[in-house]
Amino acid sequence: MSENETSEKLGPCPNCGGAFEQVRVGPYVVDRCASCAGLWLDEHELERVMAVDHRALKQKRSTEPPAVRSGGRRSCPSCGGTLIKLANLHANITTDSCSVCYGMFLDAGELDALDHPNLAGRMGQLLRKLVGRH
Ligand SMILES: [Zn+2]
Ligand SMILES: [Zn+2]
Repeated sequence: MSENETSEKLGPCPNCGGAFEQVRVGPYVVDRCASCAGLWLDEHELERVMAVDHRALKQKRSTEPPAVRSGGRRSCPSCGGTLIKLANLHANITTDSCSVCYGMFLDAGELDALDHPNLAGRMGQLLRKLVGRH
């Protein structure tokens, strides 16, 4: 099956430089890195995905994801903006979120940590507080 409903081209994975592939989750299509299985979600996608059956996103890859974490600047694959570290104290993880378009990158496994009612909404609010005003 080849589907092209979201033909927006994303840049390389901010984690490993791999290419994103589209994964169907219920009625939605989200972008997942074909190499490290990291997820790229836009501002509202996380909340939507959490509300539907998203087991497809949790399937473990047959190969271990490469732990390529350079200390350099990470760029948003969507708009090229700078990704900032956003600590989520509720889920005890740190996500990379775009300060421009509010998209966020989740490493493989971080979705599990976020799988918690209302957490997704809180993350968005927190990000807006941090970067929303100058
Ligand atoms: Zn990757
Ligand atoms: Zn962005």
